[in-house]
Amino acid sequence: MYVFDAPKQASVAVQGSDDRFPVRRIFCVGRNYEAHAREMGKDPTRESPFFFTKPADAVMDTPCTMPYPKLTEDLHYEIELVIAIGKGGDHIAEEDVMDHIWGAAVGLDMTRRDLQAEAKEAGRPWDWAKAFDNSAPIGPIRPIEKVKSLEAGRIWLAIHKEGETMAEMRQDADLSDLIWSVREHIAILSQAMTLAPGDLIMTGTPAGVGAAVPGDKITGGVEGVGGLEVNIGPRP
Ligand code: MN
Repeated sequence: MYVFDAPKQASVAVQGSDDRFPVRRIFCVGRNYEAHAREMGKDPTRESPFFFTKPADAVMDTPCTMPYPKLTEDLHYEIELVIAIGKGGDHIAEEDVMDHIWGAAVGLDMTRRDLQAEAKEAGRPWDWAKAFDNSAPIGPIRPIEKVKSLEAGRIWLAIHKEGETMAEMRQDADLSDLIWSVREHIAILSQAMTLAPGDLIMTGTPAGVGAAVPGDKITGGVEGVGGLEVNIGPRP
């Protein structure tokens, strides 16, 4: 017996089904598109990929209204392809990675950019910038047998500002621009961690990140995978 009720299992919706994907951990890849690395003031050489994490219960189904988080004046959106692991393993070979993938989705790696800048400056961890409540809105997962490609396809994000008639395209790139492909970075991740069913991997964002403010409606998608819609709620 637990001393109180165990926390509810975090989960994400599955396209075309009432079943849900149970989430174990969320791994995120940093700076995995050249133009985004440059906009963050970094040299986009193929230095080894690095990872950070979010708690499993940071996930939100979309469409949703994401509460504007505490402690920030600079909440940023980052559109990302999300990989859902269905079969665990470690030291997974690149050519075997696809056998471990249950499905793919579109997610937002929401970021308190001001806290990230402070953390970088002070040489501190990124958790406060990345791993806060509701920081991972994710659209429904498409089972891998219905996904055409994880190596190419448009990835995009648009913002519809309150009171404006038109949405503005902010991020518009292609999965083929990934510095470390899905096969490559999951193989590398599996050398550091034993991957398990339920793990999600956010694969990095293309250029064009920027601030989202209360009242904004964010839409985004990955061709052949799916989409999402997130409204930004009022400040706390
Ligand atoms: Mn990211």
